[in-house]
Amino acid sequence: MSEDTKKLWYEIPSYVFVALARRGMEKISLDQCFLPDCDNNSKDLLEPIKKEEYEEDDKHVKIIHMKCHRCKGTFQFKLETLKRVAKPTKSSKKSKKDDEEQEALTMGLAYALDENGKDLGHIGYF
Ligand SMILES: [Zn+2]
Repeated sequence: MSEDTKKLWYEIPSYVFVALARRGMEKISLDQCFLPDCDNNSKDLLEPIKKEEYEEDDKHVKIIHMKCHRCKGTFQFKLETLKRVAKPTKSSKKSKKDDEEQEALTMGLAYALDENGKDLGHIGYF
């Protein structure tokens, strides 16, 4: 694995969470091909090729282009991190607990797109 490939893998969360109705959360690995009709779930057969990054109003968006060596297709991970828009003003009444709750509001959304950027669906939260 080249250094560039390794660096790109660091950008990809190793798993995301999917909310199940009444049954809590399920962990889904991102080390798999998200193209329809491909069952590749081996990291060795996946190669991140390049990364694009841009800012939108309230979120930071990262697109990672992936090559699947089983189906020979390419797809993209779209990773959106929601920014904390307004930092709450410091208040003497504010407890440590409030800080922790604020922290929990920061979250990311992962989507899979095909090589043309067509949405293959929301994968989960990270
Ligand atoms: Zn594939």
